[in-house]
Amino acid sequence: MEYNKLGKTDLSLSKLSYGASPLGNVFQNVDESVGIKTVHTALDHGINHIDCSPYYGLTKAETVLGKALKGINRDRYVLSSKAGRYGPEMSDFDMSEKRIRASLDESLMRLGVDELDIFYLHDIEFVDIDFVLSESLPCLEALKKEGRIRYFGVTGYPMQSFKKVIEHYDIDCILSYCRYALHDNSLTELIPELVKKEIGIINASPTAMGLLTHRGAPNWHPANKSLIDDCQKAVALCDKHGVNITELAMQFAVNHEAISSTLVGTANPNNLLKNLNWIENKPNQALIEEVRTLFSNQVWRSGKPENNDI
Ligand code: NAD
Repeated sequence: MEYNKLGKTDLSLSKLSYGASPLGNVFQNVDESVGIKTVHTALDHGINHIDCSPYYGLTKAETVLGKALKGINRDRYVLSSKAGRYGPEMSDFDMSEKRIRASLDESLMRLGVDELDIFYLHDIEFVDIDFVLSESLPCLEALKKEGRIRYFGVTGYPMQSFKKVIEHYDIDCILSYCRYALHDNSLTELIPELVKKEIGIINASPTAMGLLTHRGAPNWHPANKSLIDDCQKAVALCDKHGVNITELAMQFAVNHEAISSTLVGTANPNNLLKNLNWIENKPNQALIEEVRTLFSNQVWRSGKPENNDI
């Protein structure tokens, strides 16, 4: 496994990291013991970074992850979680200082740790970015000074909301999802500025939250129908070449030198092992190029209209 430094932090992250949202039954119902086995498989095969949130399964993922991490030496993993998102609706967001502080206490309790390595505001495009800049980020900065968290950042989907935050605030890292994957690589627009400011880059969802798999997207997936159709064509094209689309998707997503780590979610130890093996091999570049020509309408709207790219 290759390890990369995250921006200006002193964290060194495995190129492939573990996203714990499936432990909250986000994609399908998961047997808790199999979920825990997947976390142990990740740690035993060189993955040293795990991401979670109270939103995943409405605290279930953090609770199961806490059980998985029990008894494991704290220096074996870099742990991130988030605050501010507690459900799917606009009204489920609260990025006030009071809620962020309470949320951190609750997450630490569920995860069974004293400190988070990275603490994010979860999906900032759903709230007023001026509020994020004036109250939520100063709260994270204060928590860092108090030694409750080591580093902080923001997560989200539209590039627009990241741009506004990094223009006005010195954050340690961003977590972007579905914007550097086979179907859409628009995160690259933001990379030069992130690199210049030494803001660490975490890329999440190499399969675009299931779109680039044989099973396809879960019913809550925000992609429009034309993207879902394009992904199905991509699956068929890869099948024709005898390649599993998820293999190609994994290889594509982990292959950008400015991205420190890519988070993949699964609660299946065998699929995690496949992902670990796949990323060690060089991708079929010609097939990547052919597959990428299939996608026309890759981006969807997320959060408040004014925070969107489209
Ligand atoms: P993902 O692209 O990693 O896809 C997960 C889906 O792919 C699951 O259905 C899983 O079963 C399937 N899968 C994984 N490996 C497979 C394999 N080898 N074969 C077949 N299917 C396979 O999407 P994700 O889980 O949403 O993203 C990864 C992590 O990134 C999340 O768990 C979370 O920690 C983080 N994330 C954060 C945000 C945010 O902060 N807003 C958003 C998305 C993801």
